[in-house]
Amino acid sequence: MALLVQKYGGSSVGNLDRIHHVAGKIIQAKQQGHDVVVVVSAMYGETDRLIQLAHALTHQPDPREFDMLISTGEQVSMSLLAMALNAKQCPARSFTGPQLGIHTDSTHTKARILEVKTDIIQRELNHGRVVIVAGFQGRNEHGDITTLGRGGSDTTAVAIAAAIKAHECQIYTDVDGVYTTDPHLLPKARLLPQISFEEMLEMASLGAKVLQMRSVELASKHSMPIRVLSTFSEGQGTLVTFEDKIMDKRLVSGIAFSREEAIVSLSGIPRQIGIEGCILGKISQAHIEIDMIAQNTTAQNTIDFTFTVQRREYPKALKIVEELGKELGAISVKTNAKIAKLSLVGIGMRSHTGVATTMFQALGDAKIPIQMITTSEIKISVVVDETHLEQAVKAVHEAFELDKAHKPQLQIAIE
Ligand code: ASP
Ligand code: MG
Repeated sequence: MALLVQKYGGSSVGNLDRIHHVAGKIIQAKQQGHDVVVVVSAMYGETDRLIQLAHALTHQPDPREFDMLISTGEQVSMSLLAMALNAKQCPARSFTGPQLGIHTDSTHTKARILEVKTDIIQRELNHGRVVIVAGFQGRNEHGDITTLGRGGSDTTAVAIAAAIKAHECQIYTDVDGVYTTDPHLLPKARLLPQISFEEMLEMASLGAKVLQMRSVELASKHSMPIRVLSTFSEGQGTLVTFEDKIMDKRLVSGIAFSREEAIVSLSGIPRQIGIEGCILGKISQAHIEIDMIAQNTTAQNTIDFTFTVQRREYPKALKIVEELGKELGAISVKTNAKIAKLSLVGIGMRSHTGVATTMFQALGDAKIPIQMITTSEIKISVVVDETHLEQAVKAVHEAFELDKAHKPQLQIAIE
C-alpha cells in the first residue's frame, strides 16, 4: 500500500467522459490498496478562455481580480471529479487550495507556495475518502486567492506530495512520458524510462513542456520522485528521480529545442573596458531577457558582440541595438528573428569527453551551419537557422543513437 498523489492535467479532465475515465483510474488505485490525493487542472482550454475574457474587458486587469477569475477553472473540474467518484460509490471530497491550506506569497499570477497544511488531507484519508484538490492556486497572507503561473498544477501536486511524504507524485497527462526529443518533430524519439531531476530541469527550461519547471525544482529539493504518465494508455511512463537511482545511465538523455528565439549581433565596436556591461545594461533596462551571449575580439581591436533573446522581444531589442550600434560606433548590426536553439542534455557529459565533437561533426556532416554555441556542465546548446532545426535534431539524435535502448558499455564507462 502506498500514499500517492496523482495529478490530472486539462486534457485528462477535458470533458465528462474523460472525467469518468479518470474516476475509474482513481478507483483502480484505491482497489490496489493505495491512499490517493488527486490534484486537478481546469478542463482543457478553460484557463485560456478566462484569460481572454479578462483581456477583452481591460488591458490591465487588477491582479487580485485576475487571480480570482482564472482560479475558477480548477474548482469546476475538482467538484465534477468528486461527483463522478461519489456516483461510483467511491467516497471523495474536493477542496480549493485556500480551503486546504495552501499558503503562498502575494505575487499574484506567479505566486510561490510557502506552506501546505496537511490536517484536512489526513482527516479525509483517515475517513477512507479520496481527497481532490484544485491545482494552480493558494491563498496569501491577506486571505486572497493567488495562482501559481501557467502549468502550476504540477507544482501544487509536488508540494502536496512533499508535505504528506507521498511515495510518488504521478503526473497524468496526454503523452506517455518524457521523450528523447519531441516525437511530433521526430517520430523515432524514444520514451525515457527514467531521467534525472537535473536533466529534466534543463529539458523543461528549454521548452519541453511536460512539467512546470518549478515543480521539478521543488521535487528535487524535497527528493520527491515524479512519474510522468499517460491518462489514456497503459505504461510505466518516465520516472524523474535522482541521478544515483537511474538504472539506464547513458551519455546523453535528450534533445530539447525552442523556435522562439532571435539573434542580434553588433560587430566592429571599438574596444573599451566595460562595453559589455553597457550593451547589456541598455537591454535589461528595457526588461528584455537575454539567453546566450558570445563576444570576441578582432585583430583590429574591435569586438563583435552577439546575443539571443525571446522572439517576441525581438522588435524591442532591435530598436535598442540599432541606437546602441550608432552610439558605440559599430560597423554593422546583424539580426535574425528566425533562428532556433537546440540543446543536447545529459549528465554523462560530466564524466565523458567528446560529446561536443560528436555533436558538431553530426551537424557538419548534415551541412548545417552553427551560428552560436554555449555549454554548461550537462548541456550543449547551438543556434541554427529555423529552417535547419528538424534536420539538426535528426542528425544529433542519430549520432547519439538516442532511438536505441541503452548501450551497456556506457554504463560501465560511467561507473
Ligand atoms: N489551469 C492552469 C493552466 O492552464 C494550471 C495548470 O493546468 O496546471 O495553466
Ligand atoms: Mg501542464
